[in-house]
Amino acid sequence: MRNIQCNRLDLAFKKYQKEYEDKALEVLNSASYILGNECSYFEKEFASYLGVRFCSGVASGLDALRIAVHILGLGKGDEVIVQANTFIASVLAISLNNATPVFVEPDEYNNISVERIKEKITPNTKAIMVVHLYGQASDMDSIMQLALDYNLKVIEDCAQAHGAEWKGRKVGTFGDVACFSFYPTKNLGAFGDGGAIVTNDKTLDQKAKCYRNYGSDKKYHYKEIGINSRLDEIQAGLLRIKLSHIEELIDERRIVANSYLRNISNERIELPRVRENASSVWHQFVIRTSERNDLIKYLNGKGINTIIHYPIPPYRSEAYLYMGIDENDFPITESYASEVLSLPIYNGISTDDLDYVIDAINEWK
Ligand SMILES: *Cc1c(COP(=O)(O)O)cnc(C)c1O
Repeated sequence: MRNIQCNRLDLAFKKYQKEYEDKALEVLNSASYILGNECSYFEKEFASYLGVRFCSGVASGLDALRIAVHILGLGKGDEVIVQANTFIASVLAISLNNATPVFVEPDEYNNISVERIKEKITPNTKAIMVVHLYGQASDMDSIMQLALDYNLKVIEDCAQAHGAEWKGRKVGTFGDVACFSFYPTKNLGAFGDGGAIVTNDKTLDQKAKCYRNYGSDKKYHYKEIGINSRLDEIQAGLLRIKLSHIEELIDERRIVANSYLRNISNERIELPRVRENASSVWHQFVIRTSERNDLIKYLNGKGINTIIHYPIPPYRSEAYLYMGIDENDFPITESYASEVLSLPIYNGISTDDLDYVIDAINEWK
């Protein structure tokens, strides 16, 4: 029987294997492993790819987000608005700075509902964290206008959306600070953990580079109580290779997603939609169905694996029960949590496997 995984990383590796091997050896032979040339080249190349002035490589996407919250000076008593259906790390980054996450329901594109942000703004609101979920750009015109009207900072969580665009401009270039993850399964994935903070603000960039390196701006001079969070040379070098192929990698995902969009036709399934003026890099292809358990079992029986992103909203995680949030306040988030299902999408999926998944879904009764 077939066994189609929901995601796999081996095929994209093999496609450029020689380049990765050469780079890994080059870095090993360089005897420079932390904050060397590879990291600074990657920072320059990634900033230039996005169209932003500064980039700091860090150890993970979560670190990028928590450093972003820190360098914006947010902390105890400050409220940060974040969408309720995001991955837990967006929320952790706020809490790790002792600021308070304030949840907002998503719109029909799975991104934050801009209309609903207003209802949650109080005198303590200091920032909005925008998550471009599943790879689709959020409505950045409306969000930046709202931020201007209420004098709020904007942090973009681009962990799933490397290269996605709003009106032809890449996400990560709109907010005060934007954060990326290079966790292996992300569209621009490393071969271990990694992350980056980007900004157009020189002061914020200097703060990020200082905080990630023990709070040091000059060797043995410590300006503040910092942390150790750096993108190592091997990961940076390998990411430079992957970045040089990113358009190709995104195009491959678009072909898969478009094939699903054009060919899946089953009235029990709701397909994802892309907002006008937004593009998606299809980190996930997320459908919705009210009979999810039945569909999962059916697909498993045909050798097709799926994943749920995410079955439990952050506020219902044990870590956040202390907030005492009433799930009845988030009916949309709750319905997504019980209905979303991610279909197989990865670089290197064969058209034969793709057609097999489409046929199986169309035959589901
Ligand atoms: C993956 C992810 C993160 C965290 O990134 P890590 O590198 O795993 O720490 C943050 N936010 C979102 C939306 C993510 O998908």
